[in-house]
Amino acid sequence: MENGKVIIFSAPSGAGKTTIVKHLLQHFPQLAFSVSATTRTRRPNETDGKDYYFLSVTDFIDKIKHHEFLEYEQVYEQLYYGTLKAEVERLHKAGKAVIFDVDVKGGVNLKKYFQENALAVFVKVDSVETLAKRLEGRNTETPEKKAERLAKADAELQFEPFFDQVILNEDLSKAFEKAEKMVRDFLAV
Ligand code: ADP
Ligand code: 5GP
Repeated sequence: MENGKVIIFSAPSGAGKTTIVKHLLQHFPQLAFSVSATTRTRRPNETDGKDYYFLSVTDFIDKIKHHEFLEYEQVYEQLYYGTLKAEVERLHKAGKAVIFDVDVKGGVNLKKYFQENALAVFVKVDSVETLAKRLEGRNTETPEKKAERLAKADAELQFEPFFDQVILNEDLSKAFEKAEKMVRDFLAV
């Protein structure tokens, strides 16, 4: 499994990694998204099996016990997120390069696992205030959950040096262009 190519996107919540990953998936037919498992509740715009596999805590812990995860983290209080080995295997068997949207610790762990077969990209913004504005605009979290995400941002921003490439996501079209170039260079397409 560690021989196939992978692209990892990590960032503090609200920086724009999901937006960039979705854009890349539309532009590169060579890529396929690794659908993670999570115990978070589904947002209205999300589809089970497409955005995430939404699991109960009991089912998630069962999968941990059965060693079904390549990596997993309790990213927020009571919220588990993890990359399923079977998901990555399935996509690599289909001949795809796999793209991940994971938290910073998960990103570092996946880079360690896939090494030179991985391109690890860190998405950042100029300030925590920008993150706050974007989370406000996305309007998917309760005020408490938003505060929890912002409180983690400073610590998450310290992970930048562990990544291969960095995108400062201010002007979105420039961020898309930069991400596209990184992917083209890495996949040599
Ligand atoms: P993440 O996946 O990193 O949590 P999202 O991709 O969900 O972040 O983006 C958070 C919010 O910010 C979304 O509402 C998205 O539309 C918006 N957004 C993303 N990039 C930009 C940008 N460059 N400028 C303004 N808003 C942005
Ligand atoms: P959200 O709840 O906003 O979808 O995601 C919260 C955080 O969990 C984001 O940083 C997202 O990238 C991360 N995440 C999603 N899936 C995984 C995963 O499989 N593993 C890890 N470690 N983090 C994940």
